Amino acid sequence: MDKIKQNIPIAISLIIAIAFITIIGIVTPQDNNIKEVYNVYLDGKLLGSVKSKDALEKYIDNEQKELKEEFGVKKVYKPNGLDIEKCLTHNAKVLSEKQIYNKIKEKTSFTIKGYVVTIKSDDGEEKINILDKKMFNNAVNKVLNVFVNKKDVKNYKNDTQTPIETTGTLIEDISIEEKITITESYISTDEVIFDDETLLTKYLLFGSLDKDEEYTVQPGDTIETVSFNNKLGVEEFLIVNPEFTNSNNLLSVGQKVNISLIDPMISIIVQKHVVEDMPKTYETITKDDDTMYQGQTKVQTEGVNGVQRVTSKVKYVNGQAEPAIITNYTTITEPINKVVLKGTKTYSAYGSYSGGGTPAVTSGIWGWPTVSPYIVTSEFKYRWGRLHAGIDISGCGFGSPIYSIGNGVVTEVTSNCPGQGYYGSKCGGGYGNVVYASYGNGMIVKYGHLNTVTVHVGQSISRGTVIGTMGNSGSSTGTHLHFEVRVNGNPVNPRTLY
Ligand SMILES: [Zn+2]
Repeated sequence: MDKIKQNIPIAISLIIAIAFITIIGIVTPQDNNIKEVYNVYLDGKLLGSVKSKDALEKYIDNEQKELKEEFGVKKVYKPNGLDIEKCLTHNAKVLSEKQIYNKIKEKTSFTIKGYVVTIKSDDGEEKINILDKKMFNNAVNKVLNVFVNKKDVKNYKNDTQTPIETTGTLIEDISIEEKITITESYISTDEVIFDDETLLTKYLLFGSLDKDEEYTVQPGDTIETVSFNNKLGVEEFLIVNPEFTNSNNLLSVGQKVNISLIDPMISIIVQKHVVEDMPKTYETITKDDDTMYQGQTKVQTEGVNGVQRVTSKVKYVNGQAEPAIITNYTTITEPINKVVLKGTKTYSAYGSYSGGGTPAVTSGIWGWPTVSPYIVTSEFKYRWGRLHAGIDISGCGFGSPIYSIGNGVVTEVTSNCPGQGYYGSKCGGGYGNVVYASYGNGMIVKYGHLNTVTVHVGQSISRGTVIGTMGNSGSSTGTHLHFEVRVNGNPVNPRTLY
């Protein structure tokens, strides 16, 4: 009996103990050891854990006053590569928002919401970060206005261009050659983000922000000479110095002008329909006259150029014309041919003259290398920092004859390039099929991009000899003749021969 009495409290305490163990074992771990936290990873590496994702994002946003002010945005976001993941853990070590924030800040930059503009061309891809799509459009329009007159663009867009009655120009199309896409994106604040229209315009135009080369005007400088000496075309000079309106504007000594090279990131394509009058050149006809001695000449009728009206399609890439296509031409007035009388009477055996019968009047007069009508689409000038050392003549048609401009000798020929080349072709050093002719006194003429060549090295040629046909060989964007004149190696503007 005693034994049983004594054992009852033991049994009760045992039951209580078992129950207690059970309670501790089952209930308590849920309350105290397993926790819901947010693990913060940067580029896959754990930085630590926080209690609340929302609280962390809010903390980031609040702490970033400076960035908000700098970029004029309402919100700053977590860095790219930062992941916040919910997690249940026994490890209860939780960092404060501030501690995690400092760890993130130490390692990376925060982001803001903006747009990535991708400009895709044949040469590759450029990316520009912007905050505002409208600002980008405005900057593109500013670049457009650099190359095309603002009023012309407006008239084209509103369909209010003045119709051509006699001569004039109409814009048929304006486009951008590159493919441009704009994607919304979180942009790291340590990247270049454009939020200024003027800066973005400059970047689109120069392909860089640190081009600001200056030149100080010296006595005797003109816009033309400053441009040429600094490898700029006059048009390019006017683009980078918008305070001047044309090349006749005067420069003052000591004035600082911009001589940076433009290198646009986009290509503004303008298709123009052009109607212009150009001279229909007269021919010179020689008639024998037996009342004058050999070697004597006399102009019977002075030549007068006629007028022809030429319609063409011209494609401009950032203000620079590509080879044109003449679609129509009509004669407005016919030229009057020049008639030269040439003496045939021989000298008496007792006369004092001992020279031959070569007329002197043709010296210094050069023929034109192509048929007429034609269009000069690229002049002798600097463009993108390189001298275009000749002029480009187009509009005469593929296969039209190319003439020797004078009397000389063929010195060099390339004739194995395909008549149709492409931009960037290296054939013939980029000039495709070429004829070089020497005309004396150190003067060498280069006829480039020919379709066929009909002369050979060493051949004597005269003014008007067909040396080949117009083509598109080598690195070329269309059918044209590259006509280049050098005297003792120095390039001379072919225009000055005429
Ligand atoms: Zn050329």
